[in-house]
Amino acid sequence: VRSSFGGKTVLVTGAGQGIGRAVCKKLVDSGAHVLALSRTADPHLNSLAAECAELSGKIETYEIDLSNWDATRDLVEKLAPRVDCLVNNAGRSLLESFLEMKPESFDMIMEVNVKAVINVSQVVCKAMINRGHNGSVVNVSSIASTLAVKDHTAYCASKGALDTVTKVMALELGPNKIRVNAVNPTVVLTPMGLYAWSDPKKADPMIARIPLGKFIGEEDVVNAILFLLSDQNGMIHGACLPIDGGLSCW
Ligand code: NDP
Repeated sequence: VRSSFGGKTVLVTGAGQGIGRAVCKKLVDSGAHVLALSRTADPHLNSLAAECAELSGKIETYEIDLSNWDATRDLVEKLAPRVDCLVNNAGRSLLESFLEMKPESFDMIMEVNVKAVINVSQVVCKAMINRGHNGSVVNVSSIASTLAVKDHTAYCASKGALDTVTKVMALELGPNKIRVNAVNPTVVLTPMGLYAWSDPKKADPMIARIPLGKFIGEEDVVNAILFLLSDQNGMIHGACLPIDGGLSCW
């Protein structure tokens, strides 16, 4: 899908690595002006800015820890008046068995995977409403929102919450002409994916359950995000779209 984002400003969180980085590059390539927020400037955001400059693309990068509610709100309030579309992509995962999961791990994951989405979206969507603007939001959830994954208690809980937040956002923001959807990928071998799935003893049984027989690529997620975000999508709203090679058919 090559959607045109010419003239649009898109805020992307978790832009330094993995899916968020690939989304930023595709958006820049599609003509968007990208506001890229992430935790680490050097080397992640700085190298992204350099690569986008080579594409003659428009990108601004901002180093921010999204688990800091107030600092995030201050930054996003400055950017929000310009934002047409929002991709809430930043996420954390941590491998801990259910019996050993620590309360601070649960809090850390919920801060980024759920609370930061609410925080950023509140500010951006209020600004869209004030401008009488038709906006669009895509939240990056996971197939783990509905599928139990071993050693991922906090992560699964956070993505289940994110799906529900997405639906409430769709319910409340739809009348303001702001479309809200989620994408729910299975494993993508980004730095986060490699952390959990690089051992073939874990990966192979998971792949065996995927009817299309492989993990998905960054491009599969990027294309779905850009389609849902774009004006090509008029009426898909409140959806949580599996991108999983059929894993959720079981
Ligand atoms: P990565 O870990 O590869 O990249 C995540 C990015 O988010 C990094 O740039 C990271 O910053 C940034 N980030 C993390 N925490 C914060 C924070 N507190 N503040 C600001 N930025 C932060 O993850 P993926 O690209 O794999 O994942 C992206 C999204 O996709 C997540 O929501 C994830 O849950 C979801 N997802 C991923 C899957 C996978 O298999 N990879 C499968 C299904 C869903 P830094 O540069 O410092 O690392």
